[in-house]
Formats: sequence, C-alpha cells, structure tokens
Amino acid sequence: MPADWQAAFDAARAPCPPDRLEILKDRAVAAFLGLAIGDALGATVEFLTPREVRAQYGTHKDIVGGGWLHLKPGRVTDDTDMSLALGRAILDRGGRIEARAAAEAFSAWMSRKPVDIGHTVRRGISAYRRSGVPFVPDNPMNAGNGGIMRVLPVALATLGAPWAEVVRAARLQAHVTHTCELADAGMEIAVALVQTALAAPEADLAALAVLAERATAAWPDLSPAGKPEAGPTAFVGHTLRAVFQALGAAANLETGLLDVVNRGGDADTTGAILGMILGAACGTAALPKRWTKKLDPATARACTDQASALIAFSPAASGLDRPVTG
Ligand code: MN
Ligand code: MN
Repeated sequence: MPADWQAAFDAARAPCPPDRLEILKDRAVAAFLGLAIGDALGATVEFLTPREVRAQYGTHKDIVGGGWLHLKPGRVTDDTDMSLALGRAILDRGGRIEARAAAEAFSAWMSRKPVDIGHTVRRGISAYRRSGVPFVPDNPMNAGNGGIMRVLPVALATLGAPWAEVVRAARLQAHVTHTCELADAGMEIAVALVQTALAAPEADLAALAVLAERATAAWPDLSPAGKPEAGPTAFVGHTLRAVFQALGAAANLETGLLDVVNRGGDADTTGAILGMILGAACGTAALPKRWTKKLDPATARACTDQASALIAFSPAASGLDRPVTG
C-alpha cells in the first residue's frame, strides 16, 4: 500500500475525538442518504445507453421515478433496500456482523417481493434457503456489484476496527451471494474510500480519487485509467471504473452523481456506490435539497436512523475496542 494511502487510511482507524463526533454522525447520515439518492436518481435511466439518456432527458438531473421499473418518484430499489435489511440485522446484534443474520435478512427481504433483484443475488439467497449455508462457492461469474451496493452498513459499524476485521465483516455479507476475488477487491476499495472519507478532517475529493487510483493499481479491471466507461454493466470492473472516473472528475457531490448516472447502464448502482462515498466525504449540507425532498420519506427516515445508530456502535465513535463480527 503506498505511503500516502496508508496515512489517510490509518486516520480512519483512530478513535474519533469527542468534538468531532457530530461531524462524523452527519457524514454517516449523508453516506446513507447519498446511497439512497444515487439509487433513486439512477433507477430512472438504468439500462439506457448514454445516448438514450441524452435523447430522453438532455441531462438527467432530477428524481422523477419511471425507468424500466416504473418507479414512483423518490422510490429506491434493491441497492438501498438490501442495505437497510443488512443494517437492521447488524443493529439487532448490537453492531456485530454475522453471516447467517445477513443471509436471513436478505432472505426475508426477498420474501417481501422486492421491485428488483439481480440474478446472482436471487441465486445466492435461494441456495441459502436450500442448504442453510450462508455463503456461495468461489466463482469468477460472481464478479457482479451486488455485494458492494449493500456494504455501507458494514463500513459504518466497523469504522475504527483493525482493517483485517473490516475486511472479514464486509466479506461475510458479500459472500452470501457473491464470492469472487475481484468483487472482494473492489468492495474493499469502496469500503476503504468510505471510511477514509468519514475520518478525513475536510472533504477532499481529489485526494479520494488519488486513493482510488493507487488502490486499483494492482487490479487493472477496476482502475479508472483508460477510456471513459459508458453504460457500465453490473460487472464490478465496469461499475467501479465508472464510479472512480466520476469521483476523479467531481467538483462536488452533485456533479459527481450527475456524471455517473448520466452514463446510464447500471445507473442506480453506480449512483448508490458513488453516493455513499461522496456523502461520507461531504456531509448532509452537500445533498441538494431538491433530491432530499423527493426521496421517499420513510426511506429517508430509515437511512438517517440506521446511519446514526450504526456509527454509534463503531469502535471509532464508541471508543470501545469490541469485536465487530460474530
Ligand atoms: Mn437496483
Ligand atoms: Mn442496479
């Protein structure tokens, strides 16, 4: 790991000073709302090409619902709903991440007939229901973005824990449906960006973009270098390249999210992942009012309440050096 990346990252492992607890909580809430906003905004243009987005919307910039799921404006999809299901399971266990609890939460969510569900997610949850084993076998076909789009509750609850513990916790939830080295690597970079952003003294999007570039050096499939990713698929390489490119070009949270969703493709999920990173960096003041006002009120409340409670359990905020898994 490069020295500058390591330094920024070490800051995320340190306890949060008492006078910064309110800022940390605000950023945690903004990360969860940013995820939901990116999801609700992107869902409108999911599976469109950038050209189709331009033809239909010019620049797509408002939460208007519709899309292939015919959503009400402000309605979120599986990205946010699976995150909330996982967050609830973590809170019910006093801030600990456990594979079976995650699998049960995902299974209960699938029973509620969600508006959308990915193939790999459905296959993994169905396998758990049959076998009771809360993880799927390692398979390069599992290199989808499904474990990453719902990882935020883990990033919040484990802030300040040793990195090996954070990784273990993130993988426990991901492997219920997605077990794959590349997907793990991408997820861990996303978690590291969220945690580094939460702990940073000031929002510094350029520094986060540099961290993303350095961290992906060993994973060419995930690297933002090269041609612009247009119409990213759910393959973790396409998804994260689009997210990291938009992060690198972002002037602020709003321009970053607009950039990534206007690429179309898996736009609800690129929006959700970039939304959590930018929210963690920028705090609630950076969330445009026209978006927060449009978000489904019950969803916004659940995201806010869970984010506050999850970050309060974290070793960084609680000052308690407690196990985060099991
Ligand atoms: Mn979705
Ligand atoms: Mn999606």
